[in-house]
Amino acid sequence: MHLEFFNFFKNMFFRWYQAVAEGNTHNMCSKSPPYKHPETGKVLDDQSLAELFKGPLEKSFAAFFPTLNEQNWEQVLSQKMWSLSDLPYLLKLENMTSYYEKCHYCAKDNCRNNCPVPFDSNLTVLDLLHKLGSEDNVSYFDSGKGKKDVVLNVVFNN
Ligand SMILES: [Zn+2]
Repeated sequence: MHLEFFNFFKNMFFRWYQAVAEGNTHNMCSKSPPYKHPETGKVLDDQSLAELFKGPLEKSFAAFFPTLNEQNWEQVLSQKMWSLSDLPYLLKLENMTSYYEKCHYCAKDNCRNNCPVPFDSNLTVLDLLHKLGSEDNVSYFDSGKGKKDVVLNVVFNN
């Protein structure tokens, strides 16, 4: 899900690089993006990013999330403060359990609305719906099941 989401979002990063290259950042972050090519370690610019985006999605993802992996995601995505060069945003699941229930996703009772999306290439939205007790995402408005849906939060570094 992290990769799919990044794929959906990555054009926004490209526009950031273009805006910085053109010196026209009044609508976005005026900091120069700090991301590096995952193989050469060179700081990317708009042209080398365009090249990188033509290659495999995994490689592009690694430039923007160089520290995130299948072992450390829980700790990395639970940070309150983080470096922009490690993570442009955190992907979280909104916990919609009632106060006394354990979180459906991570099974902790102190999770509240701050549950990291597992970094697991096999995890699907359907798996998460099943954790909520929904059969599929077509049933959203069917027969009173409409209260259960998977809600993603994108937490940006500010
Ligand atoms: Zn949780």
